[in-house]
Amino acid sequence: MKKHNFSAGPCILPEEVLQKASEAILNFNDDNLSLIEISHRSKPFVTVIEKARALALELLGLENKGYKALFLHGGASMEFLMVAYNLLQKKAAYLNTGTWSDKAIKEAKEFGEIVEVASSKDKGFNYIPKGYSIPNDADYFHCTSNNTVAGTQMKDFPQTDVPLICDMSSDIFSRQLDFEKFDLIYAGAQKNMGPAGTTLVIIKDGILGKVERQIPSMLNYQTHLEKDSMFNTPAVFPVYVSMLTLQWLKDLGGIPFIEKVNNQKAELLYSEIDRNPLFKGIVAKEDRSTMNATFVLTDDSLTEKFDKMWQDANINGLHGHRSVGGYRASMYNALPLYSVQALVDVMQELERNN
Ligand SMILES: *Cc1c(COP(=O)(O)O)cnc(C)c1O
Repeated sequence: MKKHNFSAGPCILPEEVLQKASEAILNFNDDNLSLIEISHRSKPFVTVIEKARALALELLGLENKGYKALFLHGGASMEFLMVAYNLLQKKAAYLNTGTWSDKAIKEAKEFGEIVEVASSKDKGFNYIPKGYSIPNDADYFHCTSNNTVAGTQMKDFPQTDVPLICDMSSDIFSRQLDFEKFDLIYAGAQKNMGPAGTTLVIIKDGILGKVERQIPSMLNYQTHLEKDSMFNTPAVFPVYVSMLTLQWLKDLGGIPFIEKVNNQKAELLYSEIDRNPLFKGIVAKEDRSTMNATFVLTDDSLTEKFDKMWQDANINGLHGHRSVGGYRASMYNALPLYSVQALVDVMQELERNN
């Protein structure tokens, strides 16, 4: 039986997606060739990437709204650099909600002045700062919608006149948002979409061309827009699997459907964390992530016992990030509700036995 997979990333993908992906490795489109041994400029693959780009916009409600979707290389970490390279002329504002924001800030500092509008670093990023103001002469405001490491999630986004840029790597396609508020959204594939190796970047028309510096071709969004994400060889397999996952999500009922399931999963686990005296959450309740739930044992001496119990219950990937410790249950779109129930059962069994 497949394990209950709570891995934070790369992470769980839908069974039917894995099945179709493995078939395409051997025989794609019944053409007796593998997906990964045909030209990326052949019609079958161009159809795949065009469909993936269209599905991404459709699911987010951004179709025909003046946005384009790209599948680029280099992970979300490359976007930390590209965003600043392409959009930062003088000054940019950043909200620091964790490890990933911190890294985005570090890259951007190479290109101009960075105003950190607020940070939750003082408390180990266990909350989302609120009530900050964004300078209206900033070239853009950058935030991270979901802190994958500490397990916090932005529930609201600021009203601002400056372009809004968001790293949505670990919660894109998981909940409904007013996506039209954003000017640029990026997300590494390996959290809610596909295998590592490609990054979805969604760009609103008209935001580029405002910086004076020369930008190397591969790092220039304009290059990739002009070539429809085919400037060089795209990550064919990750793009294909992303397309399958987006199609899977669309067939289920899209984001409105999956958001309900994600809320049910989060509710089930957080209510057990709050009820069970052996566990406690580590982040501010109002900022809890529906994707990554972090918690600790109230009695450290039970660690070995609990670790053995969940591993025996066929559960994978529950250890917290090395910088945080404790436990982290990542409940991305493809994780079924019964996997969360399996974890809750183990937590209750630990309580009964102690
Ligand atoms: C995982 C993650 C990243 C890093 O992604 P890479 O593809 O490894 O560069 C960046 N931001 C967030 C929010 C993440 O969860």
